[in-house]
Order: sequence, then structure tokens, then C-alpha cells
Amino acid sequence: MDNTVTILGARGSMGLGGADCLRYGGATTCVLVRISGRAVLLDAGTGFMNPPRDLLDIPVLPLILTHAHIDHLLGLPLSPYVMRRGARLDIYAAARHGLGAEAQVRRFLSPPLWPVGPDQFPADIRFHDLPPELYLYTDGRAAKMSRDRDERAAQASRDRDERAAQASRDADERAAQASRDADGRAAKMSRDADERPAQMSRDSDERPAQAPRDDGVIRVASMDGAHPGGVSLLRLESGGKSVVFFTDCTLTDALRPAALDFARDCSLLLCDGQYSDDEWPARTTFGHNSWRDAAQFARDCRAKQTRIVHHDPFHSDAVLDAASDEIGVPFAREGETILL
Ligand SMILES: [Zn+2]
Ligand SMILES: [Zn+2]
Repeated sequence: MDNTVTILGARGSMGLGGADCLRYGGATTCVLVRISGRAVLLDAGTGFMNPPRDLLDIPVLPLILTHAHIDHLLGLPLSPYVMRRGARLDIYAAARHGLGAEAQVRRFLSPPLWPVGPDQFPADIRFHDLPPELYLYTDGRAAKMSRDRDERAAQASRDRDERAAQASRDADERAAQASRDADGRAAKMSRDADERPAQMSRDSDERPAQAPRDDGVIRVASMDGAHPGGVSLLRLESGGKSVVFFTDCTLTDALRPAALDFARDCSLLLCDGQYSDDEWPARTTFGHNSWRDAAQFARDCRAKQTRIVHHDPFHSDAVLDAASDEIGVPFAREGETILL
């Protein structure tokens, strides 16, 4: 089965309709990832009101919310998926403002903002607080979560130790190389013999530090982005393919190094690039990016494919065509399916 990403909604802030947005679409953020044979939904903007037919036949669908701003939730109560008896929607969201995933969604799906709550949907809606690492099994087993943030801190410490060990090995190697150079050609044969076992031992030392590749698990890593009220940046990884979702996040100087590490070499980057260079100076605190900065980030993290997302509601198809030409990166189009 192909690994794909389908853009169900790419508009940011507010949905819209009309002749000016027929190609890029007017539905707000909703992305369907199909990886290692399992479907995972990212955000529930109005794009969730129009899912592919076969999505309705999936008995258990994980929905991961980057945050609970209304443009990322508005499709939830009107989606045909929640109208299906026997369907189960597992909603994951990081706790924010002292509210867990369930409390955040119920705040919107309750009077006076909305007439119908999640208990009244025919589908079974379950809520989970999003951990820093979530493992979704493709054979239907229950998801496994990393126990808490301490686990991530421990991993970061292991990574740091590994980098320090590597730096020390590199320094040893450079010193050894300098000494070998000084010894000259006469020592070459003996050197080659010495080097081989050292290389093998380095390789075997490093192997346990690498994450196991397992087509039966989707690893969902999250980190905090820069957005008013907070946002989760997501990286989904399985079977050697990876999707990074950076919506509603300003790539500030402070965040950039960690964000680059997080997104590096991904198969597909979906990156918020809501504004033009002209609009950007008046909107630097809104929690988004200029499309030029988004394109630069995509190059810097070496994403294999990129789409700009969270299109401003005041940008017509013609504006987005011109923007795409300007930065050399395509903007996501509602309905398009991207092969990973
Ligand atoms: Zn948004
Ligand atoms: Zn937002």
C-alpha cells in the first residue's frame, strides 16, 4: 500500500468559498496521513467535513490536534465520520491553559458556542492527552505512550552522551591520523589492518542508539512550537517515511535549531507560510511565518518534499500561484494527494 498524504484543508485562520479559491481550496486545516497501511488525521478543520469515502469505513481513527484554535476544530462536529455508529475517533491533544484534550474540545462543543456535544455523536469519541512520543500500532493494538516528559529528557541526555562520545572518537581519530601521516607510507599496510577492527567496533557501538525500524508502528513525536496559546509540532515516522507538520508556528531564532533537528531529512514537510514579505512586519506576533521564511526552513532541514500550508483567507489562487513562483516551493492544494 502506498504511503500518502492527502490535503483535506489547507486554509488558515478562517474558511472561505468563492471563485477565487477553487484551486487551493477554502477548507481549513485537515491532513490525512496514510503510512504503513494505517490512516492518521492531523487537525479537524472544515476539511474534515469532506473526507474520502473509504475513511468512513475505518473503525478506529486517530486524530491528532496540533492545538484547539477554532480553524483546526470546526470540522469535527460536522464530519460524516462522527455521525457513524460503530466508528471510534481517538482524539489526542497536548494539555494547554491547564486543560486536557477533552476539556479543550468540550469548551468549543458546548453552549453557548455549539449546540451538540461529543456525547451526542453516534461515533465513540475518546480523548487522550498527547505525550511527547506516541506509538500507533498498525495492527489495531492500543496506542502506547511514552510515560512522561522524563523519558524524553533521558533520551536527550543519551543523545548528548552519544554526541560527546562521537566527538571524542573523532578527536582520537584525527590525532591518530596525524600520527599516521607522520609515520609515512612504510606503515600503510599495518595501518590498514589496524583501522578495520576499529571501524567495526565503532559501528557496533553505535547500533543500539538507533531507533528500530518497524513497519508495524507509527512513531508520533511532538515538540512545542511558537504560537499564541501554544502548538504541537508533529513528526510521524514509519517504515523509513516521515511527515513533519509545522502549522501555526513562527520559526523564531530561538526555536529554529531544535526545529531543524526535529524536521531534518523528512519525506514531506508541511510548513506554515501564511504571509507575504509585505504583510509580515505587521503580523510577526500572530504565530505564523512569511512564505519566504518557510521556504528557507524547508531547504535548511533538507525536506525531500515541501508544501506551504495555512493559506491566508485573503489570498486568492492568483496570489498563491505568484507566491509559489516567487519562492520555488508549491502551496498545498485542497484535495491533492502527495506520494511519500
Ligand atoms: Zn490556524
Ligand atoms: Zn492557531
